[in-house]
Amino acid sequence: MGYNAAPLERLIEQFAKLPGIGRKGATRLAYQVLSMDREEAMEFARAIEDAHTKIHRCKVCQNFTEDEICPICSSESRDHSVICVVENPRDVTAFERTREFRGVYHVLHGLICLWTVLVRNSFASKNC
Ligand SMILES: [Zn+2]
Repeated sequence: MGYNAAPLERLIEQFAKLPGIGRKGATRLAYQVLSMDREEAMEFARAIEDAHTKIHRCKVCQNFTEDEICPICSSESRDHSVICVVENPRDVTAFERTREFRGVYHVLHGLICLWTVLVRNSFASKNC
């Protein structure tokens, strides 16, 4: 039996699930949340809830958005003939910060191994 109250322990466990956050860091973050006043803590919780309930993938580029189609894909001032394929939504943010790229994006949400795709397609075509 631990010496932390069960809700504190659950909060530590949730923070520890985040990449790059170990048990020590998770404990520090949990105590930081406990030091917030109630309204600040609820605002923090609502931000997490809102992110999960209101954000989904754009139907065109797969980037995160609140809309069915994101502002970049729906913009008429972007060059839709130039598509930048990126690994994750953070890459879109990085490109957009440069204000240099005027095309659109396709977000993979992870890397793809072209060799695996080629091998799969090769076997698939032999089976047809
Ligand atoms: Zn989009």
